[in-house]
Amino acid sequence: MTGSIEEKQYLVRFKADKKSHLTVLDHDVCLTHCPDKLCTLFCPAEVYKWEEIRMQVGYEGCHECGSCRIGCPYQNIKWEYPKGGHGIVFRLA
Ligand code: SF4
Ligand code: SF4
Repeated sequence: MTGSIEEKQYLVRFKADKKSHLTVLDHDVCLTHCPDKLCTLFCPAEVYKWEEIRMQVGYEGCHECGSCRIGCPYQNIKWEYPKGGHGIVFRLA
């Protein structure tokens, strides 16, 4: 298959659930224990954005790669599979 990353991402469609399937359990852990805010680095979809004292979670853009289940050194991210019919949808080109 050919095509740029942008073209491939264009083929990714989201049907976001209203309720987040991702939860940062304790924002104080992020604030006091995780100076590099690793989830803002390893998440390929840039779901995590640090805003002053709190982690914002843009769960709608999650690619469901699963990295944050193992990537957070403090197991501070609760990750549930999106409810059936929600979440990422891939379309073959
Ligand atoms: S990697 Fe974990 S502890 Fe660090 S900022 Fe992200 S959620 Fe918080
Ligand atoms: S599952 Fe992957 S894409 Fe989704 S928030 Fe976690 S690291 Fe980001």
